[in-house]
Amino acid sequence: MSVGSTLLKLQELDLSLERDRKALAEMPEIAELAKKRRAYQKLKADATKLYAQRKDLETYLKELDDQEMDANDDIRIAQRNVDSSDYRSVQQLELELSDLAKKLERIAFDRKDYEAKLAELKKKEDYLAEYTAKFEASVIADTKRAREKAGSLKDAIDASEHQRASLLNTLDAGTRSSYEAAAKRFRGLGVERLEGNVPTVCRMTLQASSLDALKHAGDVAECPYCHRILILSEDGEE
Ligand SMILES: [Zn+2]
Repeated sequence: MSVGSTLLKLQELDLSLERDRKALAEMPEIAELAKKRRAYQKLKADATKLYAQRKDLETYLKELDDQEMDANDDIRIAQRNVDSSDYRSVQQLELELSDLAKKLERIAFDRKDYEAKLAELKKKEDYLAEYTAKFEASVIADTKRAREKAGSLKDAIDASEHQRASLLNTLDAGTRSSYEAAAKRFRGLGVERLEGNVPTVCRMTLQASSLDALKHAGDVAECPYCHRILILSEDGEE
């Protein structure tokens, strides 16, 4: 490859390297995934909240069971202790039984309420669990896709870097450093070539006389207008 075409190929490689590195650093999939992970944390927090609410309701229901057992025990004790020959004792028993019946009624009422809430909560938990599972699957799939995309970008970068190094190796130290300097100065576009008598980047038409002078100097010169490296001929000798 001639020095001219090596320099042009180097520039092409450097531009695509810059593009790929930028694409890798700014992959929108990564920001999207971070957002999804935050949403996932929120789902997990919601599940914890529902779980705590369910545990509370289950505790209340258990307490109602205990209260019901106590009330039934009290009924048995009151009935056992009554002296049926004593009018006041019978009257006392009736009062006690009526109080206990009211207590049982309230327990039954509360239980119905708690059970309805519990059923509602379980429905929410099931829905959330199903949604979370689907969400998890989509995060896993997105992560896989993002990794694959990053992997192929990294492969492309590695290949370009490899090719770049071997191209640089074919250049002498002076050409190498003037390429690096021009690439830096002109933000990656330090090399141009001639199209007729017009350089491809600055597009300033060269006079026939200055073109002749440049061509006498060799295949690679400096553009008299923009001072980029100007490739006059890509044929050159091997
Ligand atoms: Zn120029």
